[in-house]
Amino acid sequence: MVATASDLLPATLAARLAAEQQQQLAGAPRAQRLALLARALALDEPAALAELAAAAGLDVVIAPVVAPAALPLLPARLVHDFQIVPLALPDLPPGDDLHLATVWPPEAHMVRWIATFTPRCVRWHLADPARVRQLIVENYGVGAGSLEDDDDAPEPSATTATELDADADAAVVRFVTDIIGQAIADGATDIHFEPQEGALRIRYRVDGLLVPVPVPDNLLRYQDAIISRLKIMARLNISEKRLPQDGRINFKSADAALDIRVSTIPTIYAESVSLRLLNQRREAFTMERLGMTADEQAQISHVLDFPHGLVLVTGPTGSGKSTSLNAFLRQINAPELRIITIEDPIEYEVPGANQMQIRPEIGLSFADALRHILRQDPDVIMVGEIRDRETADIAIRASLTGHLVFSTLHTNDAPGAITRLIDMGIEPFLVASAVELVIAQRLVRRLCPDCAGRTAVNAASLRDTLEALGLDPAKVGTVRELGVPTGCQRCRGTGFRGRVGLFEILPPKPLHNLIVQRESTRTLAQAAREHGIRTLQQSGWDQVRAGLTTLDELLRVITISES
Ligand SMILES: [Zn+2]
Repeated sequence: MVATASDLLPATLAARLAAEQQQQLAGAPRAQRLALLARALALDEPAALAELAAAAGLDVVIAPVVAPAALPLLPARLVHDFQIVPLALPDLPPGDDLHLATVWPPEAHMVRWIATFTPRCVRWHLADPARVRQLIVENYGVGAGSLEDDDDAPEPSATTATELDADADAAVVRFVTDIIGQAIADGATDIHFEPQEGALRIRYRVDGLLVPVPVPDNLLRYQDAIISRLKIMARLNISEKRLPQDGRINFKSADAALDIRVSTIPTIYAESVSLRLLNQRREAFTMERLGMTADEQAQISHVLDFPHGLVLVTGPTGSGKSTSLNAFLRQINAPELRIITIEDPIEYEVPGANQMQIRPEIGLSFADALRHILRQDPDVIMVGEIRDRETADIAIRASLTGHLVFSTLHTNDAPGAITRLIDMGIEPFLVASAVELVIAQRLVRRLCPDCAGRTAVNAASLRDTLEALGLDPAKVGTVRELGVPTGCQRCRGTGFRGRVGLFEILPPKPLHNLIVQRESTRTLAQAAREHGIRTLQQSGWDQVRAGLTTLDELLRVITISES
């Protein structure tokens, strides 16, 4: 049933809107009406909410808190469709009233539906729609409205077995879409569906760390259907449950379109399914946004202008190597340059570049692809990763014959990349001639700018930590306070939002002789420090001192043994 404007808009407000705006409001879901109203009145949302509340004779709850005891009174689908949560109010008047926060003044049919589930008298309040949505997700689980039992649903229940099956299928489809949609909204890079004993656990990876996703209590019942649904979306063989499978999903929704890589493995309870969310529409990464200082940017930009040479980015999985390479490619991208990339997977699209996905299963490895693209007249080549001698060999030769080549390696620090190439069997003089720059990097979580606090420094323990990181303890000197995470609504209570990079930038040319003499990583690192390179540890400490992150974050990504 479509509500009419007069049903849902207090008369004093209706008078201020054009008929078309009223119609638009009437057609919108409850959760989106406030945003529309704010736009129509040219106000921000809090101001529009205040006007709406005054016109409807309701109050606005600024920081709503859920009443746990009242949660089971209302079925999740109702909560979801109506966007309501039961409230605990500090100065609750005595009595048995049920206080509900919602995002728009209640409509008559809502009141009737709620009355069928509870005899308690309902008192209405308005609250910020984003906060109400967040409370629903936290307390009822992501997608709870999709998997609600049919007998509780506001719609007339299905009568035949086939209709019931069709309803259950549709619910699972909606649920999976909700889970992926929420992951995109949360900026997650991965989603894991993990069958456990007596539960299906779902976790997101956000800013490099796993966070459990609140899910509806009745989720286990749908486990097989959810796993099958994911396998169908990824075009996998749904009857094959004993062998790992790989596939991909082209996910499209109203506000997102992205590639998802899907991998399944059999575990003791059921298949575990992992989703990797690729080319998420993220803000364009520039070197500055990665957290590089002006000096670091200048040092890298200088090399990006070279017509040839090898630039390596190194670090463990999840240290943001491909993000950096993407930022470099974007910086040099120009119509007069032919850029070809070989990737696994293609994480970001670079406009104008030719991007190739390797397919080892049909004989297209990094080395094969690289050999072929050299016949394609490239100026700039990006090879996702150097894993073997063959790829290393071709990349080095390409960089010595007039191509600028970017790639990544898995080593702890920058000097380690040099010795890794030599260990792979590349002649040291080729390495010394070809490699123009090595950048080691890590990502740490960035303190939430909205809520980060400051805490007094314990000089003795800070001195110990700096010493353990191989830094000069005298640096404690003037540091009296450091940033600490607090937690607010914008950072979902974690105290962190987004990430910032730590960088160690090594131009290897000054170490030419040491490299040719096959000196160890340790010797190279020592010499690099004498030439004044800033280590990862120093870069990290600078970011801690600048209040962008914490010492604990630094210690999490840089193990003491590395220093
Ligand atoms: Zn915060």
